[in-house]
Amino acid sequence: FSHGTPQPPGKTPVPGVRHIIAVGSGKGGVGKSTTAVNLALAFAAEGLRTGILDADLYGPSIPKLLGLEGRPAIREDGIFTPHGAYGLKAMSIGSMLTKDQAVVWRGPMATSALRQLLRETDWGELDVLVVDLPPGTGDIHISLFQQVTLDGAVIVSTPQDLALIDAKKAVDMMQRMGVRLLGLVENMSYFIAPDTGRRYDIFGTGGAERAAAELGMPFLGAIPLVMSIREDSDAGRPPLVAEPDGPEAKAFRQIARAV
Ligand code: ADP
Repeated sequence: FSHGTPQPPGKTPVPGVRHIIAVGSGKGGVGKSTTAVNLALAFAAEGLRTGILDADLYGPSIPKLLGLEGRPAIREDGIFTPHGAYGLKAMSIGSMLTKDQAVVWRGPMATSALRQLLRETDWGELDVLVVDLPPGTGDIHISLFQQVTLDGAVIVSTPQDLALIDAKKAVDMMQRMGVRLLGLVENMSYFIAPDTGRRYDIFGTGGAERAAAELGMPFLGAIPLVMSIREDSDAGRPPLVAEPDGPEAKAFRQIARAV
């Protein structure tokens, strides 16, 4: 992270932001947002000035995961001041909605909202901005990939064929749009029963590592299915904050280093 990324014509840098990394997945519910948040916290723990942008406009999870309260402040010139949470700067459309309010927008509205969240936010000086993408491949992805040069994307999948098939599609889209693939994370990789210590490969095993090899991209690591990840996340205290010395936090930190 020593240099800013040069931007080719047609793309404009986000003022103050040196590097942008996106986190994507083929399917929803595989732990993409959980990975994005903990990856961002791991970068911050390494001393990088880090932000997180929730680009999952139709299913924003960042406010819940980081325990963000209320709306972001808006300056007189209409620029947002991002929330601060555990050393991160965070922006999410979810902070502007009531709890059960849906975003009901066609593509162009969503892409213009993404542009606003990205560019009309006072990020200050950031070494890295982590973007939590929506699942799959759609308008928001195209809009983001066309307007900024990403340093790369991390893909999250469970080991299950169904999730991996869609993860490969997300990879295909990114390759076609010239996005560098930083690697694949296998989440919900296995489950160790706390009472017996027995391991269960609930969604199969090793699938993401094999898929990464097939796709010629790095395999960044595996995160097990652990009750405390779900509990801590639901409580707005991600594992890196709630249990910074625990095995899950270590696994996320290793992934951050591999990125
Ligand atoms: P996505 O962004 O892919 O839709 P989320 O990160 O929102 O997925 O995760 C979906 C749910 O699964 C959340 O409730 C989250 O706390 C839980 N979860 C994610 N990863 C794990 C894990 N490794 N172990 C236990 N629960 C997890």
